[in-house]
Amino acid sequence: MTLPSWRETEVGDHKLGSMARAALWLIQEVGEGKIFTVARLREAFPDIAQIDRRMRDLRDHGWEIATSREDPTLLQQERRFVTRGKDVWVPGQAKGPNHKASITNAQRARVLQADGYLCRTCGIANGETYEDGVEQSALNIARRQVTLPDGSITHQLVTECKRCGRGSVDRSVDLREVLSRIDSLAPLERSVLSGWVKADQRTYSSLEVLWGMYRTLPEESRKAVADALDGTDD
Ligand SMILES: [Zn+2]
Repeated sequence: MTLPSWRETEVGDHKLGSMARAALWLIQEVGEGKIFTVARLREAFPDIAQIDRRMRDLRDHGWEIATSREDPTLLQQERRFVTRGKDVWVPGQAKGPNHKASITNAQRARVLQADGYLCRTCGIANGETYEDGVEQSALNIARRQVTLPDGSITHQLVTECKRCGRGSVDRSVDLREVLSRIDSLAPLERSVLSGWVKADQRTYSSLEVLWGMYRTLPEESRKAVADALDGTDD
């Protein structure tokens, strides 16, 4: 099947929207795996004000376009066309389920349960009022971009409240970094962290309890503690 040209605005009686044309431009002018700049994209579509935003919409249709956040080898103005997704220029394809709609009720229920019915980012429960008292929370299921130990990128579902989802903060995860930090932990740190992970909350270790007690001590008592510690060093 021949692709329509990205320069066309309609094919037969079917109009080609900006997103579809951006998709065709990526295939025909950039090529999978290749780098382009936002300036070059804008140059190709001088009459479409928010062409970079339309291109971003492609992500909802399975297209992967990396920025310098996802791909540190890129400059800020550069993008990499990683993989193509749905044939959004085919009538009906672009209207297909976007990320949110494609999460089934069963998946939603499973993720909510696994996440303890809390936003994994700020810890708020559904319908709770935020600390600033401005609004009540609503929990969504978000797709989090995760870089797996083998370097491949996937998306995993996570519970997130509306407010945390709204921010422009990049919450993509690099599991390789987390795992390599764990590798470099001392045995004691490792066992403390393991306890927190099992409890799914930060519990106080005996060290922290001791530190809390020490901090409240009068100076003379603090000195006694310091001396005792020095003593154990010898
Ligand atoms: Zn939140």
